[in-house]
Amino acid sequence: MLSLTVQGSEQISPHFMSITLGGDDIQHLDRSGFDQSGRLFFADPDDDNVFLPSSERWILQLTLQGSAKQRPRVRTYSIRRFRRDALAFDIEIALHESNASHKPAAPGSRWALAAEPGAKVAFLDQGYSYAPTTGATWQLLVGDESALPAILAILERSTETSEALPAEVFLEVPAPEDIRSEITAPPGTAIHWLPRSDPSAKPGALALEAVKQDQLPDGRFYAWTAGESSLATGVRRHLVGTRHIPKSDICFRGYFTHGRASL
Ligand SMILES: Cc1cc2nc3c(=O)[nH]c(=O)nc-3n(C[C@H](O)[C@H](O)[C@H](O)COP(=O)(O)OP(=O)(O)OC[C@H]3O[C@@H](n4cnc5c(N)ncnc54)[C@H](O)[C@@H]3O)c2cc1C
Repeated sequence: MLSLTVQGSEQISPHFMSITLGGDDIQHLDRSGFDQSGRLFFADPDDDNVFLPSSERWILQLTLQGSAKQRPRVRTYSIRRFRRDALAFDIEIALHESNASHKPAAPGSRWALAAEPGAKVAFLDQGYSYAPTTGATWQLLVGDESALPAILAILERSTETSEALPAEVFLEVPAPEDIRSEITAPPGTAIHWLPRSDPSAKPGALALEAVKQDQLPDGRFYAWTAGESSLATGVRRHLVGTRHIPKSDICFRGYFTHGRASL
């Protein structure tokens, strides 16, 4: 469990905040996997009375040491970029309205907007899932805004390897202004940006439909898909059922469920 502070924040587009987290504890963070993620523990804005865990047995620690009112919020985010020299890393948080009935709504999204330098957080590494299969000649990456940081990190870090697989990328974003212009990616990569035109549309539906309609390149490929859970499961179902891709060549991860707050 790393004790970190917010070092800076920047709104990079209408629906994305980039937050830099840093501190001496970064020395204990192993760089593992291209889509490495972790649990972020943080306080609601204006709540000074929160107990942040210091142990990997955080559930036990929070139960024993903090009252219910002192419990922090917990949400999972991908490490977008390491800044090892500065003992820091960046995360990128998608801003969204909450359609859930619980209060306060979408604490992760709210925290990102309000995060001030010096704010204390805790971070617990949760590892990675991206692991291209041997024999793949290209990779299919599909996600919505919650998976955009992981997909950009996968593309960027793929270029650091000697056998970078060209990627066919389907990335759904909340609005055209969220499309990124400067992307570092393996040669031969094609990125299909899919901005939503309807703000009330379910995230991921556009990306799933685009994959279903696309011809996709020839040759054996590795597929990695993440985002709203129907997107991840829908892409896998389509690849297995319609395109007869072996299940072992597909990694799929539901990052959130539409209409349900994360735990
Ligand atoms: C391994 C992993 C890595 C992840 N990496 C990132 C990341 O790098 N950046 C990132 O932004 N998210 C990432 N997520 C997703 C993030 O943890 C969830 O989106 C989380 O629910 C956000 O918390 P919240 O407090 O903002 O909203 P919640 O309180 O959890 O949800 C409130 C409501 O908002 C909806 N909702 C939640 N997230 C979104 C969204 N992105 N778009 C639209 N509606 C949403 C929910 O369905 C719910 O109805 C990751 C998740 C996992 C499991």
